[in-house]
Amino acid sequence: MVGWPAFPDTGPVPPVPDARTTAADTASSTGPVTPMMAQYLEIKGQHPDSLLFYRMGDFYELFFDDAVQAAAALDITLTRRGQHQGEDIPMCGVPVHSHEQYLSRLIRCGFRVAICEQTEDPAEAKKRGSKSVVRRDVIRVVTPGTITEDGLLDARANNYLACLAEAAGEVGMAWLDLSTGELTLQPVDRGGLPAALARLSPGELLIPERLAQTPDLFELWAEVKDRLTVQPNARFDSENGRQRLLSLFGVGTLDAFGEFTRAEVAAAGALVDYVELTQKGRLPRLDTPKRLAGGEVMEIDPATRRNLELARTLTGDRKGSLLASIDRTVTGGGARLLSAWLAAPLTDPGAIAGRLDMVAFFAGETHLRLDVREDLKRCPDVERALSRLSLGRGSPRDLAAVRDGLLAAATLRGRLRGEGLSTLPGGLTGLARELGDHEDLIRHLTEALGPDLPLLARDGGFIARGFSAGLDELRDLRDDSRRHIANLQARYAEQTGIGTLKIKHNNVLGYFIEVTATHADKLMSGANREQYIHRQTMAGAVRFTTVELSELERKVAEAGDRSLALELELFEKLVRAVLDQADGVALAARALAGLDVVSSLAELAATRDWTRPEVDSSLEFRIEGGRHPVVEEALSVAADAQSFVANDCDLSPAQRLWLLTGPNMAGKSTFLRQNALIAVLAQMGSFVPARRARIGVVDRLFSRVGAADDLARGRSTFMVEMVETAAILNQATSRSLVILDEIGRGTATFDGLSIAWACVEHLHEATRCRGLFATHYHELTTLAGKLPALSPHTMRIKEWKGEVVFLHEVAAGSADRSYGIHVARLAGLPKPVVSRAEQVLEVLEKGDQAGAVSRLAEDLPLFSALLNRPPPRSAQPVADPEPSPVEEALKAVNPDDLSPKQALEELYRLRALALGGRG
Ligand code: ATP
Repeated sequence: MVGWPAFPDTGPVPPVPDARTTAADTASSTGPVTPMMAQYLEIKGQHPDSLLFYRMGDFYELFFDDAVQAAAALDITLTRRGQHQGEDIPMCGVPVHSHEQYLSRLIRCGFRVAICEQTEDPAEAKKRGSKSVVRRDVIRVVTPGTITEDGLLDARANNYLACLAEAAGEVGMAWLDLSTGELTLQPVDRGGLPAALARLSPGELLIPERLAQTPDLFELWAEVKDRLTVQPNARFDSENGRQRLLSLFGVGTLDAFGEFTRAEVAAAGALVDYVELTQKGRLPRLDTPKRLAGGEVMEIDPATRRNLELARTLTGDRKGSLLASIDRTVTGGGARLLSAWLAAPLTDPGAIAGRLDMVAFFAGETHLRLDVREDLKRCPDVERALSRLSLGRGSPRDLAAVRDGLLAAATLRGRLRGEGLSTLPGGLTGLARELGDHEDLIRHLTEALGPDLPLLARDGGFIARGFSAGLDELRDLRDDSRRHIANLQARYAEQTGIGTLKIKHNNVLGYFIEVTATHADKLMSGANREQYIHRQTMAGAVRFTTVELSELERKVAEAGDRSLALELELFEKLVRAVLDQADGVALAARALAGLDVVSSLAELAATRDWTRPEVDSSLEFRIEGGRHPVVEEALSVAADAQSFVANDCDLSPAQRLWLLTGPNMAGKSTFLRQNALIAVLAQMGSFVPARRARIGVVDRLFSRVGAADDLARGRSTFMVEMVETAAILNQATSRSLVILDEIGRGTATFDGLSIAWACVEHLHEATRCRGLFATHYHELTTLAGKLPALSPHTMRIKEWKGEVVFLHEVAAGSADRSYGIHVARLAGLPKPVVSRAEQVLEVLEKGDQAGAVSRLAEDLPLFSALLNRPPPRSAQPVADPEPSPVEEALKAVNPDDLSPKQALEELYRLRALALGGRG
């Protein structure tokens, strides 16, 4: 926290004065405005939507309303500085050296921050007159989608800046991760927007005002409202966008990059403009635009992603998700690429096979895989270092990251060419090529960079000795002068006979001679008076200087300044050298990430006994010995480690829809999800947890599993269920895979059963997709006789001594009971409730439900209450069942009357009673 004095009064806060008010206006209407405040107001006026970090020496300071908001968000002290229009100006500040942590908190709270720096040396400003203000300018606006600092970003997740635009009635999307420079465009229909946004999960989404005001998209915007930036419509003009891209990539037509719709081009143009605007004219290195055509990736809507817990669990954690369970990557770039692969499984069997070939290669080459992973572990985040360098925000450490990354790339390239390896699959040959040959750049950076690298170039000292003769000379001069100062101190001490005389340095006086007060007279009298010029008298010491010392000081300062200036010049040249080869370096970085992903998927496959799936364009879905990747892992590390029971699933055309019945807790949901996850894993290019898997490409995956209220959006549990079911029935195709768990549970029994019934018929007759339908409505199994491709299956259990044992095995057939009451007992429902439920169930199962219920109500107090009978005078507890013979016998025993031997005999008798006479 910053140590500002507390702001004493809590009166009304002056907002930032109107941005359009000029300094002169302000001065004339409200009295004098200091030149600094005038400058502040002018700059703030240009950035009304951002908090302004105004650089003052070693602090970024915030004023007016900005200060009030930031102080509250950061929990730092609000103070004041001077007055404006007769009111105190609220102020708070954050130190420059640690500003990143504050910035990160503000960005997370949804603020944008404009960073305003001093753009000239204060000495220059002084030359214009003593009252002139140092020039300042905003060098960058920090927004959630445009951050590049490691400290502000999650190293293992992409941070996308996405943009939507509309043209000619179509919607186009463009997105970019500033730290990788990859720009992708995609046409999206409105219905597919939620899925597309859920896939990317952008850090910031730009949309035009027109789309923001479209009523049928309000719900979607509400979901991403913290990340939404609405811009004027004019910024999304498709023709401007086209011109913007043409000039950016220096081409006469965009056709070479693909055929883009006007909406896509408008989105990409607005995106590039926004980056330039926030980076104040600097653009990162950008790849030529790529296009993601419709249908190129498996469509997975937000509800399905959530339900299947792909990247996050239902509670929002990464731990426990599929991603966390499969992530064995060892670099930030690899982790980001893996997450992108998982978010967007492919639909082209050829492309999927290409990825699987690479994984299979590494799965078979154990030694190579382990070596590659060791090399990768030492590999820094080249992508992010490169992006900082290209945006002028790089440091000597970023140069070193590029050097070390390229070195690792060279080693890996050598490994992939190694003797005795089986033939490299095409994908790996491509990656090896992309790793590239950067020997010259590596050598250049190795020669240039010294061993100790500061965080900021302006701290100096990072260029290696021997790299620049000029720099070495200046450094020698600077260091020599320092040695001269040490010699001077020894000489002055000897001359004056003051052994404690010291030459010291501080920021105010520079170098000075210091003696204790008792010796001061010696220097201020006699011949010494001429030589020693008095500077300052302190409590116990007096300070002097000499002409000689001033001269030396000038030399030291000059040499220091000149060596730093030269070092910065060399730094810029090194950055340029890297940027000249930026495309090659970026390609190498991406290849490193690719190698990390395929080798880590191979590691996963090898250590968890996963197999290569066959993915083709058929409509098959045959899984033999399938397992749930996350549940299996959880069971294997649990204290009472049980093994996961593998199950088959065959949704080939003749039995494409399975109706799964079985008791609660038997493993239905696990089975449903595991098959969906296997499809996702296979199509992203991973091996799968199964003995064998053949999957005809799935175009869309839908899952409706579990129940949750969405009260924030005013939807009850049942409404959420129906909205999700409607989306599935409307959007699924014959190539889709649909997982439905307990449809119709949140309403009255007959309503629910009827809805479930109709859904099964629709999926079978109209959608004709592959699907798994789990239900407790055993009545649905009668549909199997009518619908030929509906195949009833059940979770097997064993009843043993009145207990139910879950076998977790899926078998053909159907269950006749749900054993819900058994699970209720396991869960600890009070005994009377469980017994009563058993009685009620017995009556209900005899049929004639309506008559049975009223008979039960006649008989029993619980049901009288339900039927709104007048309440009994005193609340009747539910009757306990008749005491058992054992209980009766126990009651009759008086322990005080028994000898130890009799007590033992009594115990044997009671046990025999409990076992019904079977001693
Ligand atoms: P309900 O109908 O009550 O929702 P369910 O039939 O869907 O229950 P699941 O939630 O899938 O049951 O599984 C219950 C528990 O059984 C899981 O948490 C898991 O620990 C265990 N389980 C499920 N499938 C298996 C399996 N194949 N092998 C071993 N354990 C399993």
